[in-house]
Amino acid sequence: MALNVAVLGAPGAGKGTQAVRLAREHGIPKISTGDILREAVQNDTPLGRLAKTTMEAGLLVSDDVVIGIVRERLERADVQNGFVLDGFPRTAAQAVALDHMLVGRDPLIVVNIVVPDKELIRRLQIRRICRDCGTGAEVPQGREQARCMKCGGELVTRSDDTEEVVRERLSVYYRATAPIVDHYRGRPTFRAVDGNQEPDVVAAAMRQAVDLLIGATRTVEGQA
Ligand code: AMP
Repeated sequence: MALNVAVLGAPGAGKGTQAVRLAREHGIPKISTGDILREAVQNDTPLGRLAKTTMEAGLLVSDDVVIGIVRERLERADVQNGFVLDGFPRTAAQAVALDHMLVGRDPLIVVNIVVPDKELIRRLQIRRICRDCGTGAEVPQGREQARCMKCGGELVTRSDDTEEVVRERLSVYYRATAPIVDHYRGRPTFRAVDGNQEPDVVAAAMRQAVDLLIGATRTVEGQA
């Protein structure tokens, strides 16, 4: 059975960090629309040129574009045993489109990582990413961790992690993305996890939630 997971949460909730761990533990790809778009911007592709200003303003790239990216990605052979989506879906239209893409596949497990606003803002202000490989890192205030743990590249602030853009991204999140939790909440394959804890503790809670939900998906399949 394939393990199809979507990790939801506000910017700064730790979706990327936790999605990577989960994907690695299960040997399945992590699919991050933010990473795909950032790479396109960095490589100055037509997609990157289209998305750049929207991303820098902290707004959402159009549903058509993002849905197209995910649809194409989910057709590749490496998702045969499952995938972990990070940063998608982010709107009601994307959630509906994802449901359509997954018709005939194993049920989608949805984990929502919940973190209070104050903590989200704190994290986003100290977050850095590697200029070369895009790996994320938290840099404690007043301390400069100059290099990426993975490739040694320089750590930089994401262009959309400035105070003004962070505020915009949080307001976009509450307006467009938070309501989609209701799209999933009633499903037996949905769980919320407290993300206001150390990453290892959150990872353990995620693991536990996913294990429970794997059981739930078997029940869903049994009823189908
Ligand atoms: P992230 O790395 O997930 O925070 O995404 C960075 C930026 O990419 C977002 O602020 C949006 O501008 C864009 N983006 C990523 N995923 C989506 C999505 N599912 N829908 C629309 N825009 C997205």
